[in-house]
Amino acid sequence: MNACNIGEDALIRRLAKLVPGRADVVAGIGDDCAVVRTGRRDSFDWLLKSDPVIEGVHFTPTAPAEAIGHKALGRVLSDIAAMGGEPMWVLIDLVAPASVPVKRIEGMYRGLAKLARRHGVAIVGGDTARGKTLELHIFAVGRIPRGRAVLRSGGKPGDSLYVTGSLGGSGQGRHLRFEPRLVEGQWLAAGKWATAMMDVSDGLATDLRRLIAASGTGAVIEAARVPVSPAAKRLLDRRAPLVHALSDGEDFELLFAVPRRKKTAFEAAWSRQFRLACTRIGELTEKSGRLELETRGIRRVLNVRGYEHFT
Ligand SMILES: [Mg+2]
Repeated sequence: MNACNIGEDALIRRLAKLVPGRADVVAGIGDDCAVVRTGRRDSFDWLLKSDPVIEGVHFTPTAPAEAIGHKALGRVLSDIAAMGGEPMWVLIDLVAPASVPVKRIEGMYRGLAKLARRHGVAIVGGDTARGKTLELHIFAVGRIPRGRAVLRSGGKPGDSLYVTGSLGGSGQGRHLRFEPRLVEGQWLAAGKWATAMMDVSDGLATDLRRLIAASGTGAVIEAARVPVSPAAKRLLDRRAPLVHALSDGEDFELLFAVPRRKKTAFEAAWSRQFRLACTRIGELTEKSGRLELETRGIRRVLNVRGYEHFT
């Protein structure tokens, strides 16, 4: 058995058994960020997140330098958004072959800095190392009012499921240009709208399976309601645009659950607050672990898989 055929989630579950925890960890391995609590009287919980981007995996050698920096930080900010948090401080480890032009590295940091500035984030350090490929490893700390982090585990049967923006076809370019949904995530947490939330990074089908596993529910997606992105509709390959929307990775939109009784008030409040689309795509069900797709009134178990990190 190797990393490829065990799969990412199973590998993480095995590794999680090997490592220690502490009493002040509110949410450890298995959510978008870790949530930790310091002093008893602190008014904030702290969110911790790290993530690498690697040439040949997350970007091509011809990708514009600024876009690489934007993506590297944007991925981490998207995970902080998925908890409802506010990003604060960032450390960056740069790994680069000795032959990389300084101009390219500076370009990456310019892209990173632009996004950081927009969200009031400070870059406070890190390290550099020589390596075979160009890599940025980002570690970020964010905060959220104590007890308010929106975990993946809070969903209940009957909750409506929503996604922001549109899904699929991110490989056409959006994976380098997406906007982390920080304002929206903070608003969802502050208004106590969302019972469970995560960002869509590995494809809706895969990520929703993770959310229902954490919440101990099932879910049904209504095929006709899935917001398929224009990029996914333009892709003229053998896979239908809907399949792209369900399975392509790197959308970096928010996926969240809202109690059914708040549905009308939530949808009205959202459209007063944001121009960004927010679409109800289905709901959580009582069938624990079961993900279904409803097409013209008929529900079938959804077998579509999203992005697998080790295949
Ligand atoms: Mg995430």
